[in-house]
Amino acid sequence: MWVVSATLVLLILWYASLLISSDSLKPDQRAKVQSAIDLIQQSGFTREAFILNHLTAFRSSDNWLNAYVGHRDAYAATNFPFEVVTLYPEFFEVPTDDRERAAVLLHEARHLQGEGEEAALQFAWHNKRRLGWTVDRYAQTKLWDATERLTRASFPYYFQCGASGNNDCF
Ligand SMILES: [Zn+2]
Repeated sequence: MWVVSATLVLLILWYASLLISSDSLKPDQRAKVQSAIDLIQQSGFTREAFILNHLTAFRSSDNWLNAYVGHRDAYAATNFPFEVVTLYPEFFEVPTDDRERAAVLLHEARHLQGEGEEAALQFAWHNKRRLGWTVDRYAQTKLWDATERLTRASFPYYFQCGASGNNDCF
């Protein structure tokens, strides 16, 4: 009982320290995040939408842990299993609309379930059409270009379709 309680207290303190050392979202940022989550929900990703809606704390600046270890992603960083998602200024500025922000959050929702970078990239790439994030509408955007490059680097065999043998298979 003592060990369980002490562990629980430490986890709560750790979680609180992540929140205290970072800033919350501004109201306009909060609205953009909610619109993106709504799109995820409407596209039928109920598990991901539930996690983002009810279990996730969104922050707008790095907590001490992110600042200490650094982060790889340009748009967002997730602390699993604390379900803290840090959204960088690029998340609000670079994507062209809510649907593109939804694509980023769908990726983060997989990290929130404990998956690694490759699994998150894979899930988002396989499901982009279901989200409405499609090549005909978004192929020219900065986010599409960056995501395709990352996905291509991890999964080159996803891009061996079409007449040229160099096109996306999904
Ligand atoms: Zn990631």
